[in-house]
Amino acid sequence: MRYLLLTLLIIYLPVTFAQPRQSLVPGGIAMIELDPNDTGGYLFRKKPVLVTQIDGKYVAVIGLPLSLSVGEQFIEKSDATQVHRKYFEVAAKQYSTQHIEIKDKRKVNPYASDMDRILAEKKRKQKARTHYTETEVDVDFLLPVKGTKTGSFGRRRVFNGQAKRPHSGMDIAASTGTPILAPSAGTVIELGDFFFSGNLVYIDHGQGLISMFAHLSEIDVTLGERISKGQVIGKVGATGRVTGPHLHWSLGLNGSWIDPALFFAAPD
Ligand SMILES: [Zn+2]
Repeated sequence: MRYLLLTLLIIYLPVTFAQPRQSLVPGGIAMIELDPNDTGGYLFRKKPVLVTQIDGKYVAVIGLPLSLSVGEQFIEKSDATQVHRKYFEVAAKQYSTQHIEIKDKRKVNPYASDMDRILAEKKRKQKARTHYTETEVDVDFLLPVKGTKTGSFGRRRVFNGQAKRPHSGMDIAASTGTPILAPSAGTVIELGDFFFSGNLVYIDHGQGLISMFAHLSEIDVTLGERISKGQVIGKVGATGRVTGPHLHWSLGLNGSWIDPALFFAAPD
């Protein structure tokens, strides 16, 4: 009986151990193993760099913005006597273009009367994206919704014939009402009904790693709430600028949106 139970446990335990995968392109992440006696404290473009333990080693995980120029980049820190730099090389990546038709034209060309709201929300979003708390981070992520991944990160997007910002996250197609699980522990730092994103929730996972979930039909958390990994934070919906129900998940690291798929095993 004990043997059978053990077998079942082995079968039903999650088999994928998610951990970040390096991708040295704009929108990707750099991963630099630190010396055992190196306590971190690095900056990348003046923003603090996340350090986590992977396989018993300390690793700096650096978010690379979509706007980053290719070529040599570095993280650095200074002590009393010198500046320490660690270099890495960023290669170009060509992201594809996606054409999208939005029925609600106001979400593509807002009215003049919408602009105050949009600008106020933009400030709140920027503040949330660059939020920083010095805490341990669990980078072993859960996928927040089971569904089909569509609209991949970084795509240049044309809404109703007009070029807009590149896609800043991962879209997962799922029906309205599907529970959204927190991919990792954290704290709710922003939420509300936003013009473009619809109902949204920001979770601070620590050390500049920030999740943003958009287009929710329902928000099931409160501002400042401490969230555990796997906790339901809301339900999938179709609020804001969308063509249908799906979860939009953006993942920010040191102030930049990066591809959330890099926190999961590579697709086969
Ligand atoms: Zn999206």
